[in-house]
Amino acid sequence: MEALFYKKREDDLQCLLCPHHCVIPAGGTGVCMVRRNAGGILKAETWGNLSAINFDPIEKKPLYHFYPGKVILSLGSIGCNMSCQCCQNWQISQTSATDYHFTRSLEPEEIIRLASSRNENVGVAYTYNEPTVWFEYMLDIARPAHASGYKNVMVSNGYINKDPLIELMQYMDAFNIDLKGFTKDFYRKFTGARLVPVLQTLRLIRKAGKHLELTCLVIPGMNDDPGGFRDMTRWIDAELGPETILHLSRYHPTYRMDTAPTPPAKLEELYGIARTKLSYVYVGNILMKDLSDTRCSKCGATVIVRNGYQIKRQSLTHKGTCSHCGNQVIIC
Ligand code: SF4
Ligand code: SF4
Repeated sequence: MEALFYKKREDDLQCLLCPHHCVIPAGGTGVCMVRRNAGGILKAETWGNLSAINFDPIEKKPLYHFYPGKVILSLGSIGCNMSCQCCQNWQISQTSATDYHFTRSLEPEEIIRLASSRNENVGVAYTYNEPTVWFEYMLDIARPAHASGYKNVMVSNGYINKDPLIELMQYMDAFNIDLKGFTKDFYRKFTGARLVPVLQTLRLIRKAGKHLELTCLVIPGMNDDPGGFRDMTRWIDAELGPETILHLSRYHPTYRMDTAPTPPAKLEELYGIARTKLSYVYVGNILMKDLSDTRCSKCGATVIVRNGYQIKRQSLTHKGTCSHCGNQVIIC
């Protein structure tokens, strides 16, 4: 499949899909390892190929304010335009089409058929590895899914250029975007990418009015400084609004990192800082009483109690409003 968003040059070509803007010589691939210069044409090598396909609880994405309690058909392929030191999915994110043995190949229409096989399924999520790097396949699925009335959800690191994002947003309903830290140094050293383009993505999604939730994996000694974290929550409040949903996720050692897991007290401390600015903050990847429940931003009533991916509705109408004060809390 020929890729979108690239330009041919005299002896090579340049991919314009993400802010790396890779210049790719004949036969080579970009940083993501899945977009190749094949005879002067940029090929999206993984089109149609999946590493994982599951019906997941939507809470697992994580999305807490978008169709809570439903499932979503979740697709993953391979490759990534970042190289995070503690990637939980490194076996699929840090590999290439040459090295990886795919188990499933599905046409978009087969995926739509599968989506319709479960009544409680709300749509399709593009997740597990970074979906930006399989942009064309995602778009080819998202279009018919949208036309069939399904919701499309992108779970992403947000490292995508403006033009492809705008094209994608015609069909996407909700995003969970990682905001992995808040310094240029952290992004460069930990992910091999830059912070500023991620912030631009967040502003564009907010401006387009799409449902947006953020995830920050809290890594001891790397991005857990209270001052830096306060700066991040101030930025979210000022640029995206105080009702922006923020998930603080507990780090566990994996891939290239063996630092001990994030202490619960640190998660509690950062939760407290974030709550001074933001109405909806959650702690995940660990069970901590009350820190994953949803309270109405206006009156404080508890509207959803969570236990892992299990949810119990309280004081919540079927339209997603608080039954005490009528505030819209949830999309459902
Ligand atoms: S999508 Fe891949 S090839 Fe294209 S610019 Fe980004 S990392 Fe490079
Ligand atoms: S952006 Fe996500 S998939 Fe990519 S390396 Fe980082 S954690 Fe892994």
